[in-house]
Amino acid sequence: MPNVYFFGEGKADGRADMKDVLGGKGANLAEMTNIGIPVPPGFTLSAKLCIRYITDGHFPDGLRDEVRAAMQRLERVTGKQFGGEPPLLVSVRSGAKVSMPGMMDTILNLGLNDRAVEALAKASSNPRFAYDSYRRLVQMYGDVVFGIKGRPGQPDPFAAALDELKARRKARRDIDLAAEDLRALVATFKTIVQRETGSPFPDDPWEQLWGAIEAVFKSWQTKRAVDYRRLNHIPDDLGTAVNVVTMVYGNLGEDSATGVAFTRDPSTGAPGLFGEFLTNAQGEDVVAGTRDPEPIAGMQRQFPDAYAALERAGATLEQHYHDMQDVEFTLERGSFYMLQTRSGKRTAQAAVRAAVDMVAEGLIDRTEAVRRVEPSQINQLLHPMLDPSATVDVLTRGLPASPGAAVGQVVFDADTAEAEGGKGTPVILVREETSPDDFHGIAAAQAILTARGGMTSHAAVVARGMGKCCVAGAKDIEIDEGKQVFRVDGRGVKAGDWLTLDGSTGRVMVGRVPLVEPQLSGEFSTLMSWADELRRLRVRANADTPTDARRAREFGAEGIGLCRTEHMFFEGERIQAMREMIIARDRAGRERALAKIQPMQREDFIGIFRAMDGLPVTIRLLDPPLHEFLPKHDEDTKQLARTLGVPVEQLRRTVESLAEANPMLGHRGCRLGITYPEITEMQARAIFEAACQVAADGVDVHPEVMIPLVAHVEELKRQAALVREVAERVFAEQGRRVEYLVGTMIELPRAALTADDIAQVAEFFSFGTNDLTQTTFGLSRDDAGRFLPFYVEHGILANDPFQTLDAGVGKLVEMGVRLGRQVNAGLKVGICGEHGGDPATIAFCHRVQLNYVSCSPFRVPVARLAAAQAAMAS
Ligand code: PEP
Ligand code: MG
Repeated sequence: MPNVYFFGEGKADGRADMKDVLGGKGANLAEMTNIGIPVPPGFTLSAKLCIRYITDGHFPDGLRDEVRAAMQRLERVTGKQFGGEPPLLVSVRSGAKVSMPGMMDTILNLGLNDRAVEALAKASSNPRFAYDSYRRLVQMYGDVVFGIKGRPGQPDPFAAALDELKARRKARRDIDLAAEDLRALVATFKTIVQRETGSPFPDDPWEQLWGAIEAVFKSWQTKRAVDYRRLNHIPDDLGTAVNVVTMVYGNLGEDSATGVAFTRDPSTGAPGLFGEFLTNAQGEDVVAGTRDPEPIAGMQRQFPDAYAALERAGATLEQHYHDMQDVEFTLERGSFYMLQTRSGKRTAQAAVRAAVDMVAEGLIDRTEAVRRVEPSQINQLLHPMLDPSATVDVLTRGLPASPGAAVGQVVFDADTAEAEGGKGTPVILVREETSPDDFHGIAAAQAILTARGGMTSHAAVVARGMGKCCVAGAKDIEIDEGKQVFRVDGRGVKAGDWLTLDGSTGRVMVGRVPLVEPQLSGEFSTLMSWADELRRLRVRANADTPTDARRAREFGAEGIGLCRTEHMFFEGERIQAMREMIIARDRAGRERALAKIQPMQREDFIGIFRAMDGLPVTIRLLDPPLHEFLPKHDEDTKQLARTLGVPVEQLRRTVESLAEANPMLGHRGCRLGITYPEITEMQARAIFEAACQVAADGVDVHPEVMIPLVAHVEELKRQAALVREVAERVFAEQGRRVEYLVGTMIELPRAALTADDIAQVAEFFSFGTNDLTQTTFGLSRDDAGRFLPFYVEHGILANDPFQTLDAGVGKLVEMGVRLGRQVNAGLKVGICGEHGGDPATIAFCHRVQLNYVSCSPFRVPVARLAAAQAAMAS
């Protein structure tokens, strides 16, 4: 297999489907060549080589010959000479299979030296441009290859030298500097390189080239690249390709420009080009936010031909890739070049709109539209917005870079954002502008606010990808990181102060503005209805209140898969009655206490049944251990003793007697109902009375009573018998019957292992994968936070098993389903642990033929989409 692939002339060596070898950028440059879009010629060094280089520490034999041959071809195609005259200059860019924005490094203008710069000045008739290119090369090379950066608290020495020169020349912008200034700056930059590395800046273009190639390959292993891969589950062994591309210049004068564009609006999905451009500038200027770009519409007036070429190329690319593209382009003295294209990162709103629009445009079919939208992204659509009725104190405005609204406390650096965010404090990261080194802070923050940079700046791109609110380029902000404060017209906001951002309008507000739930668009319902046609798995919600039940239904839930009844016991008067029950000395006392709760429970169930008219509602009987209802401190114990009129000593003894060393594995779940059958009776009565009452009003009610934490069929047998007995009693009293089921959670390994026994009694199974994970791993779900993140970080576990179902726990689920259906072929089986809303787990649930997944109301749309994608994949 070759190591080097040529593109940009004739038929390219590569193709779009060779991303494993060429990386995304290289594969797309090859593909653009093949579909007739003008790209600057160049060649790609394979990503396989990157891994070989990292493993072996050197390049394979023969590579130098391959690169030399490709460079000779490039010289032929361009009519220029690498290291000669007219000078052939190249950029060296990384490009992995999966787009990792800003993660890897780029070096421009490679091939320049003291001789070539003069030739370039002559060829371009623009010495200012030639020296500016040269100083950029020394600067980027110094940064990427030699690692010359600012030390903590000190600015980057190159940037400092440039600022100093600008101040001396009273130049406001870089382009206000003259050729002579820039020539002097090159000399200063070279001195910096000599000082920092002890060696001179390499003069030989070939030495520059190999240094750059090695640096790009090595950049695969930098902390920020590794962090990004971890967060996005990108395998470490992909490697990055290196693209060596002929330089084309957007900074050759007022007839040149460079820009970035999306073929549709990446925030809303609206059709039409969306992007920014800068006249007389190089690509880095747009992305780095060092100059403020203009909206792409302005290009239509200024460069109508180039704008038409961009529109044509955009349409060709969308027709070819059937997807929205994110492109970089350059206009060099009237010649238009596409430098890059890739599938555009977009907000969930844009993803949904573009997918639905593309079906209407005939670019894709419905199945493909459903496949296109990332289920976890759907969460963004359900993100809060500012309460429109709230009065807001708008401090300033920036660009609406990534929609949604967020509230948090101000922090000024990524490490603090990570530390505070990790503790659960909502933070807003405020930066002059962000770089890939801030990635971990962006990930941990609620939202990002930057003082500089456009809609395509690093902060904007990364935040959009994460579905996080971002306001970028809020120009009036002056940040004083040293004093930990930022100011707008003299008004100061300190670290720790509350701030609210609206990423949809760009408003920056002081204080905590109330947020409201979002409205879902018509396109969203359309896409969801297509997903519903494709999926086999049903989607239910975990909901404990009528309000949650209604919301779940709005999001498309097809029933309740888990109604946890414990919160119903913790509220106000109920806890009092519960405590009374716990310390009662006999059954009669316990029944008296429970009788107080029963009507309240009945009311809860009535509300939920009404909200779920026509749909099944699985109600789980009480689960937590009794001691959770008792006071934790002596003062509270005394107070309770007074209220209940019992001696303090007696209450203390009760509290002590209920204390457990390991309550999670103790007296909870059905073990409570077995030792205190009155609780089960009371709950069953509340359920069936509520069901009969709503049925009398015409509600189509389908209660499913679920017994928790069953390990042995005998436990289920007794509890189920009790429930049925109560049901019969209530039906007789009410003169009406309702259809109901009695089933069980499968949340202990023993239950999964003996599912054939249990299925003889249970009418349905619901896998409680929270407890099943904890008991299969022997790993407490309350204490796992202490070491589980370490396990995931160090790759001992690929994922947190409490978020994505572990394969071992999955085997128990699979076995449970198989054994259960062996005795009861029609057994209805679902899952109601947290995993029920996780797309990877949903795919598994589809494969092992569960009937439904149940998850929190907000994840119901995610689950509907994931279930459709799982069905398509099988
Ligand atoms: C479970 O264990 O997965 C479950 C749904 O129950 P809980 O989280 O209430 O223990
Ligand atoms: Mg459980």
